[in-house]
Amino acid sequence: MRNVIILGSTGSIGRQALSVCRHLGLRVAAIAAGSNIELMERQIREFSPGVAAVADEKKAAELKARVADTGTKVLSGSDGVCEAAVCKQGDIALSAIVGVAGLRPTAEAIRTGKDIALANKETLVTAGHIIMPMAKEYGVDILPVDSEHSAIFQSMAGNGDNRLKSIILTASGGPFFGFDREQLKNVTAAQALKHPSWSMGAKITVDSATMMNKGLEIIEAAHLFGISVDDIRVVIHRESILHSAVEYEDGSVIGQMGVPDMRTAIQYAFTYPKRYPSEVERLELAKIGRMTFYSPDDEAFEAMSICRAAFKSGGAAPAILNGANEAAVALFLNGRIGFSDITDAVKSAVDNIRGKRADTIEDILAADEAARSFVTELYR
Ligand code: NDP
Repeated sequence: MRNVIILGSTGSIGRQALSVCRHLGLRVAAIAAGSNIELMERQIREFSPGVAAVADEKKAAELKARVADTGTKVLSGSDGVCEAAVCKQGDIALSAIVGVAGLRPTAEAIRTGKDIALANKETLVTAGHIIMPMAKEYGVDILPVDSEHSAIFQSMAGNGDNRLKSIILTASGGPFFGFDREQLKNVTAAQALKHPSWSMGAKITVDSATMMNKGLEIIEAAHLFGISVDDIRVVIHRESILHSAVEYEDGSVIGQMGVPDMRTAIQYAFTYPKRYPSEVERLELAKIGRMTFYSPDDEAFEAMSICRAAFKSGGAAPAILNGANEAAVALFLNGRIGFSDITDAVKSAVDNIRGKRADTIEDILAADEAARSFVTELYR
């Protein structure tokens, strides 16, 4: 059993990961989060990590005072989060910070030889061309936690070096499945935050509503499994039971099914290649009754095509796309722009920002910053 580092411990994935640790009796070497120190204090008292890092420096000072009676060392700022990511006692780091803020700590963990349980898709979207070779160089496994990618990974197990013909990436379709462009213009943040099958953090829930999440996942899959984005086919599957599948040269399609519960993918990443009993509800197919599949509406939901094009352009384009999306989603959640403006802003940023390098993590973060400024200016 491995000692785990939980980056993003207070988030939706982080909390579910700690429940997996509780269930399996895994030791938590370090935790890190943004600012929710009330929850971090409770996590420290239950899991006794050696290190806890808070990105917000003021909150870190507060947490330090609150847990002075424990053996946990409190670190602060983004450097503190990176220090937690490389904590000596950890063997595997769960990358579950939201957004591009997760990139640097994930890269640092790889550089110190830690396997990565990867929930933070933004790491591969923005810097997959740097991260994947880096993982190879340092001999670390990148174990997918995104449910679709975990499903693909599980469906490939035991198939040796047989080539994939395609990946079938399932999508729930989000709360606005069946809406046309006109209807999408007037939807509110409250509606976008109501996901039909998954309970997740705010950013990824909005990404699911715009289908940007599926676009980001196409890029993530292309990097993880070394397959062309043209061979990744998206299918809408409202019940979220088939979590994705792979197609082999002989036409066989192998998929992974289960109830929609992220703890399955998190636990598999922590215990890979072994499987242990879990607390997740069992899949009763007769109760599900029916599974339905539809083609996505690429005209109403343009995000997937924008993502495919950005991946093909390469360089800094995916980082610009991701940075613009993060900025636009934040503006939408603050009521400053409409729902359809999110995808428009991303398209505009990718089309207009030129000449950004993408050779290093610093380049990626600079491209991200440029995209955020672009979107801020667009709606000033
Ligand atoms: P949440 O918004 O629920 O949680 C985000 C976490 O990141 C919190 O712990 C937050 O801390 C922390 N955080 C935010 N900014 C920083 C920072 N600058 N430094 C350190 N920590 C920070 O997100 P989710 O758990 O939903 O998603 C996390 C990642 O996992 C995303 O990349 C998402 O795409 C991916 N993912 C999520 C799934 C899900 O089911 N939720 C499914 C598949 C992938 P605080 O609370 O203190 O602000």
